[in-house]
Amino acid sequence: MGHLWQLISTLLAAVPTVAHATPEPATSGEARELFIQICYLAASVLFILGLRGLTAPDKARRGMQLAAAGMLVAVIGTFLDFRIVSFVWIILGLILGSGIGAAISIWMPMTAIPQRTAISHAFGALAATLVGISHYDYITNVLQEPIGHIEMAALGFEVMFGALTITGSLMAFGKLQELLPSAPITYEYQNEMNISLFIVAVLMFIFLIFAPSDWAIHHVVFYLMVLVGLAVGVLIVVPIGGADMPVVISLLNSYAGLASSATGFALGNNVLIIAGALDGASGFLLSVLMSKAMNRSFSNVLFGAFGGSVAAASSTSTSGLTVKSVSVEDAATQLAYARNVIIVPGYGMAVAQAQHQVRELAEQIEKRGGEVKFAIHPVAGRMPGHMNVLLAEANVPYDKLFDMDEINGEFSRADVALVIGANDVVNPAARTDPASPIYGMPILNADQAANVIVLKRSMNPGFAGIENALFYDPKCSLLFGDAKASLTKLVQEVKRA
Ligand code: NDP
Repeated sequence: MGHLWQLISTLLAAVPTVAHATPEPATSGEARELFIQICYLAASVLFILGLRGLTAPDKARRGMQLAAAGMLVAVIGTFLDFRIVSFVWIILGLILGSGIGAAISIWMPMTAIPQRTAISHAFGALAATLVGISHYDYITNVLQEPIGHIEMAALGFEVMFGALTITGSLMAFGKLQELLPSAPITYEYQNEMNISLFIVAVLMFIFLIFAPSDWAIHHVVFYLMVLVGLAVGVLIVVPIGGADMPVVISLLNSYAGLASSATGFALGNNVLIIAGALDGASGFLLSVLMSKAMNRSFSNVLFGAFGGSVAAASSTSTSGLTVKSVSVEDAATQLAYARNVIIVPGYGMAVAQAQHQVRELAEQIEKRGGEVKFAIHPVAGRMPGHMNVLLAEANVPYDKLFDMDEINGEFSRADVALVIGANDVVNPAARTDPASPIYGMPILNADQAANVIVLKRSMNPGFAGIENALFYDPKCSLLFGDAKASLTKLVQEVKRA
């Protein structure tokens, strides 16, 4: 939903930049203004209902539709703004933006959603920052009027948080797309330096609000603050490892929302204030919840340099141990005669796009009298709700999906835990190895099932880059191969068994 707000911000924020224009004649002005405000109110209500819909998988699609309808209403309202002097730039922007958006949604795979979100945030923040700079320039250079304290506070906040979100999001994109090293880049006194730089930016921000209107100095400080904001964005993200990028992206989403909200205050645009505040609050809450699901404190994510060389510190050793591979036929026999099967989907299911085959297999097992449940770890995959979205797309009934807390007690009664492309979320090192980077992360108790079958392609590790002792457990067998191909064969074999 975050990029939706970004899009709204980009579209709406673009309007006043072309529109420092002649006021409308008083005649129809009031009615038009009333209509615009009603549109904004309706849009805000739709955004809130949309967010509410996202709290449950079965209502999520409706939530997105409501939010999209809200965006349409907000755009219509904004198009009626009397300050628009020309639609040419807006229409050009709409065509270009829609073209880019359509290309991204068609060609970018679902597994790349985190970096896609990061790049959307960068553009949303760029829009907010450019609007802020243009507004500042208009007041101080064109009108040559002093800026009120509150207006300057809103503008300063907008460009400072906007600037750091642009570069921070670009860095997150680079790390996730593997254009930049994913490992944390750290050096001595790094946190101290970053905090000092941020304080410098805040001091400049305060100066801009309270400084007398000596425009020459004011301009220098304003643009310096933008530069420092851009630098802070780079410096705060480089020490964070690739594994923590989704949390960072969600936090940057929150910053972009706050910048949009500040844009709304600067421009007197109510829908921007509300949409930005919703974005800011939901992004922040999501970051906190994701940290919690990984059993990491928020500050540890931001300052802890997780996801890189720490993996080497893990004491989980599997040298001398062997894994047991299983044939499709034998795995199918186990599944066909199992009474209780718990399926644990993970990132590999998303890579293989195997969700439809997973549903078919579950149906086949159930036809033979077995009971199948799906165990959903909160950070399985690469974004919150990743597994829910994929399984919903394949029409797996919602009542078969169980959160970690609901299902964990049931693994000990399961005949088979079928792990499909999951790794870190079933790694017992999270419970047993204090040196492991994932130590303390709540995991799914797949190791407590009577038998474990793991579908994966090789012995490569998961996202945290660490060994998984579960694969070496004598009751665990590995069915090597792409999950979709393996599941297709399993479905045929279970039908035959
Ligand atoms: P992992 O990244 O731990 O493991 C993925 C597994 O899938 C690997 O073992 C890989 O092995 C296998 N795989 C990849 N492609 C295929 C394929 N085509 N067919 C079969 N198997 C495949 O995934 P999990 O879901 O278990 O864990 C998610 C990780 O992401 C956690 O570390 C979590 O903290 C992190 N994370 C998640 C966030 C979220 O919001 N969901 C946010 C932040 C971090 P192989 O290559 O051998 O096939």
